[in-house]
Amino acid sequence: MTARPGVVYLVGAGPGDPGLMTLRAAELLAGADTVLYDRLIPDGAVARARPDAELVYVGKRPGSPELAQREVEELMIDRARAGRAVVRLKGGDPFVFGRGGEEAEALAKAGVEFEVVPGVTAGVAAPAYAGIPVTHRDQASAVAFVAGHEDPAKGSTLDWRALADFPGTLVLYMGVKRLAEIAERLIANGRDGAEPAVAVERGTTAAQRTVSAPLAELPAAAAEAGIAPPAIVLTGPVAARRATISWLERRPLHRSTVVVTRARAQASGLAATLGALGAEVIELPVIRIVPRIDSPEVREAVRSIHAYALVCLTSPNGARLLFEALADAGRDARALANATVAAIGPGTAAALAERGVRADVVPERSVAEALVEALGDLEVEGRPILVARAAEARDVLPQALRERGAQVDVVALYETALEEPDPEAIEAALEADYVTFTSSSTVRNFVEAVRGGVPERARVVSIGPVTSQAAREAGIRVDVEAERHDLDGLVEALLADARDLKAG
Ligand code: SAH
Repeated sequence: MTARPGVVYLVGAGPGDPGLMTLRAAELLAGADTVLYDRLIPDGAVARARPDAELVYVGKRPGSPELAQREVEELMIDRARAGRAVVRLKGGDPFVFGRGGEEAEALAKAGVEFEVVPGVTAGVAAPAYAGIPVTHRDQASAVAFVAGHEDPAKGSTLDWRALADFPGTLVLYMGVKRLAEIAERLIANGRDGAEPAVAVERGTTAAQRTVSAPLAELPAAAAEAGIAPPAIVLTGPVAARRATISWLERRPLHRSTVVVTRARAQASGLAATLGALGAEVIELPVIRIVPRIDSPEVREAVRSIHAYALVCLTSPNGARLLFEALADAGRDARALANATVAAIGPGTAAALAERGVRADVVPERSVAEALVEALGDLEVEGRPILVARAAEARDVLPQALRERGAQVDVVALYETALEEPDPEAIEAALEADYVTFTSSSTVRNFVEAVRGGVPERARVVSIGPVTSQAAREAGIRVDVEAERHDLDGLVEALLADARDLKAG
């Protein structure tokens, strides 16, 4: 059941990793008319809302006070009564230090129907991502969630004696600012100052940092490392487990920021792969693919495609768009039954395979020169050949085939156009560790979009020699060139470089 009109959904968005949002949260966001959201929600969560949804930020903002709790409640009630489906999106779990309880009460009192969608809470998830189980059969049979923002010196509502004696793990939310007082108070009341403890900053995100120290020393260690909110503080024997089961921070690209410049529609695969290796990915699409399959040449080529002896495709976009053009003409893969099909790059071959065509020729290196070589044995003299590709591609392939006497038709299936990049992404890119280029057009448009060019500190990773050449022509130093000229090859090369750097 998706979002119903007149209903308010109190939804937990999880602790930060977008993958830790529930299916229910994603479904409701996609259906909501109004989304009220806070500061600590995962990147991209709000982007799941419909483009026409009303988005209202109700968290803190620099310089101006956050909306009063009562105002937020009134807003929810007002929108629901107007017949809208309202999602109230909160970080972590809405009922764990999230004021979700108060909001539900206000809704109940107003007679507005509501639903609660629990989320993954930071107090369990941040420790888990730091390699700490909050319970453990031998070491902790109980766990306490504690609000750490009250001043322990000013008659707080917490019973510090009981917390000091608590036989299990203490998990403190909102405790960074008062960490020194908290540790002091716990130890003064009898907690062991030598107990293992940690502070986990921005847990479950690519920027996660963890500081470990005995409880008595944690405040100094956290201050020294500059640990700032949001962070979870945990004290208990389980904190020592981290020594063996920390995993996130051991991923090869942990805390590396990598800029992906490909077109937005195609960036997600590369971004996901890099993200899974621990990188913080900045998507800065500088190109956009503009299909050109409604041109007379393309229509003509598609109409007579059965007459070609050889059909060459040079990119996954080309493969995808050729099939779109075929579909527009009411045709399908069978139109290629008589032709030899050649593809530059395993990605292109994969795009063809997805559509039921196994490429006959895929050169080992993904450049036009290699395809010319791979086609060496093929009798092309006097035969009709179709090269379907981008408008601004190089002429190496058609020229070589013509020299061998073939009748070559070249059609442009798409153009790459400059994408206006988002100023925030540019800002973030200036601090990046790596900038990746997956084609010459990404290089040229990057230089145009980002006025200063590639920032000095960043290392440049190129997918292959043609892209590298374009980079050098644009005055960009290439630090790493992929040996295999596809996305996996690019990731492999980047990883090897990061490993080398780490090893010193
Ligand atoms: N409802 C939220 C908690 C809100 S209180 C939940 O269930 O997680 C805000 C506090 O949560 C922060 O001060 C911090 O202690 C903690 N927190 C939220 N997100 C966090 C994150 N990604 N990493 C570490 N702590 C986080």
